[in-house]
Amino acid sequence: MSAAGEKVLTRNVGRPQALTVRGYRESGGYDALARALRMQPEEVIEEVKKSGLRGRGGAGFPCGLKWSFVPKATDRPKYIVCNADESEPGTFKDRLLMEHDPHQLIEGCIIAGWAVGANTTYIYIRGEYTKSAAILDRAVRDCYDSGILGSSVLGTVFRHDVIVHRGAGAYICGEETGMLESLEGRRGQPRVKPPFPAVVGAFGCPTVINNVETLCCATQIVLRGADWFKAIGTDERNTGPKLYAISGHIERPGTYEYPLGTTFQQLLDGCGGMYKGRALQAFIPGGASAAMMTAADREIRMDFDTLAKAGSMLGSAAVIVIDETACIVRSTLRLAKFFAHESCGQCTPCREGTRWMEILLHRIESGHGSEADLDLLARVVPNVGGISLCALGDAAQGPVNSLVQKFGDEIRANLRAKRYPRPEVRFFGEGAAA
Ligand code: SF4
Repeated sequence: MSAAGEKVLTRNVGRPQALTVRGYRESGGYDALARALRMQPEEVIEEVKKSGLRGRGGAGFPCGLKWSFVPKATDRPKYIVCNADESEPGTFKDRLLMEHDPHQLIEGCIIAGWAVGANTTYIYIRGEYTKSAAILDRAVRDCYDSGILGSSVLGTVFRHDVIVHRGAGAYICGEETGMLESLEGRRGQPRVKPPFPAVVGAFGCPTVINNVETLCCATQIVLRGADWFKAIGTDERNTGPKLYAISGHIERPGTYEYPLGTTFQQLLDGCGGMYKGRALQAFIPGGASAAMMTAADREIRMDFDTLAKAGSMLGSAAVIVIDETACIVRSTLRLAKFFAHESCGQCTPCREGTRWMEILLHRIESGHGSEADLDLLARVVPNVGGISLCALGDAAQGPVNSLVQKFGDEIRANLRAKRYPRPEVRFFGEGAAA
């Protein structure tokens, strides 16, 4: 639910007729696009700027500002690339939008294209999302048959094409420049920035890269206005409705829509509370790369700035809940393994650091570790983040750093008492239904 209990982004979830152009238009679909086409492109950008919309993919960069960076006077083609490569552990909110309301996304893509003067959108979708890709493909075909896409969008002189491009299963292709490399047919490795994609993006041309949820928000902003959007959320820097993907030791995992800045406790209550009423040990507020929070933080507002101030981040708003029965070292080890596996290997701090974090956590968790290993882990962590080419290095150290900071004393006590491995506690995710 969002403002006053109204569903906005998810209003078409459970309404299968929205999968067709005809059914989508019955509930006001493509009215936002018609409105945008009656506005000047600069007015659309201003409206999105005024709304305070920040990117929903992880970085939280202001969307309207990003659109305004695209050069107007250029003879090169411009592109919209929709980042649908949703692949961080615990993150599954965009899948819901693509599978239940593909036209809301396509509408956002065309609006973005009109705003910046781009005639082509690539939707780069995670390779494993076969169902989502098939639904999007059908929706795109329907749009061409209905005059929504093609040489004359809604009967105007504006041309726009949408191409659904499937990735091949690498997490790093969710990083914007890694994604562009992959889109262009090369190995998905991040580029050095600057230049930024707004100036030199896909095929060397100016490109806007937006997340699925961000583009769906843009559709709603054009339809309902910036003031409506701004009225939802914590404050003027944290506005709008937000999808939270909540998983882990809770009664009803799933994707929930709330105003941005809803507290963690409210999210927990909304999904039925802790599994079997167990105690909360920790939660990751923004996907596998965010620093863990503890039970003491349960009243925190889940928005960009509040979480950043608390040393974590909203990221993709994938909330992973860990109860008292989980071994926190084993849970973190699982995340460390993921990042070590997904590091593209291009730069040394990330390539070596992610592997060393995995080795040290494994040593501690398996009962072969010592306090010296924990000390070494504490020295490795600051040498991974902040000095790598892309954000994966920073992301990889987030949960491990918080483990050392917030659970260090507990781990030391367990090491001294030789309590690892801890068969009495489960690996996070194992046997959750037991
Ligand atoms: Fe690759 Fe990691 Fe460097 Fe990013 S930080 S470019 S994933 S090695």
